[in-house]
Amino acid sequence: MIANILRERKNGNYATYIHNRYINYSNICILSCQFCAFAAKKRDGHAFEYAIDEIISAVRGALPLRITEVHMVGGLHPTLKKEWYLDLLRRLRALDPQLHIKAFTAIEVRHLAQRIFRMPIRNTLETLREAGLGSITGGGAEIFDPGVRDQVCRGKETADEWLDVHRMWHEMGGRSTCTMLYGHIETPAQRVDHLRQLRELQDETLGFTGFVPFAFEPSQSHGVLANIKRASAFEQLRNLAVNRIYLDNIEHLTAYWVSLGLPLAQVSLNYGVDDLHGTILEEKIFYMAGATTPQQQTVAALEHAIREAGRVPVQRDSYYRHLNGAGRIDRSDERELICA
Ligand code: SF4
Repeated sequence: MIANILRERKNGNYATYIHNRYINYSNICILSCQFCAFAAKKRDGHAFEYAIDEIISAVRGALPLRITEVHMVGGLHPTLKKEWYLDLLRRLRALDPQLHIKAFTAIEVRHLAQRIFRMPIRNTLETLREAGLGSITGGGAEIFDPGVRDQVCRGKETADEWLDVHRMWHEMGGRSTCTMLYGHIETPAQRVDHLRQLRELQDETLGFTGFVPFAFEPSQSHGVLANIKRASAFEQLRNLAVNRIYLDNIEHLTAYWVSLGLPLAQVSLNYGVDDLHGTILEEKIFYMAGATTPQQQTVAALEHAIREAGRVPVQRDSYYRHLNGAGRIDRSDERELICA
């Protein structure tokens, strides 16, 4: 009830979604996070790496559907060159200058800076932005506690390093989302401490547009994560409600339907959530981890789910600003323009 009241104070009866296209450009990664069924080494049978032409062709194919965002993440690829990344961004921007390019997690940015671009992180972010990067993604935060990180994603950046990339991006005027991967070996206190660190950075920069928690997908897990049961529907709803109450300075709370499933995401619209993420058009990371939800949703399906829950569906842009039917920012609701 409290989460729902707060959600309605912040976002009224609206529930948003974005019309986007996911691209996982490669799953080849130098790390081996224990929870990750997506990553592969080059020699592995399930390793993949798309050519720029293939990515451009996939995005070009989605443009007639009037997507407003391409969302692109991959593994920490050991050999793709700086020019490959910049060429990809430039060609995506040339394809449609209005298309928002949301790409790269904080650990990808650090990997590009240190191993590929060999530049300071700020210069790397500036170079990526000049080539077309619109926002960085919120992935890779997992749980900030160092003991948990050591067990589930050894070798990944620390909490401070994750927060520093986002701080830098926000100081440059950029915006990003933030995430939490919960429901594995973390304690409730470690979850709250994760939220605290996000809230403190938000107090400092106001650069986070939305929070996107994911429940751990256990189907393919092994080692320290073997035998962990998927967070129950009740646990996921309770987590979302606490997130809404605790993260009082982050305006939007997204239910990632790929993880929750659309029916539970629909219910979550009364537990603090005001956003159902997007159409996605081909999700690979949760799918390879064993998720049985579809890899995409249509606009009609998302709007139907929102209406059925008694909310008013509104298409949004990458900054959660309401769009009118023509894909333009709807200025009749200036209250929503928190990131303009
Ligand atoms: S979570 Fe990211 S960094 Fe970790 S193994 Fe998977 S792709 Fe690599």
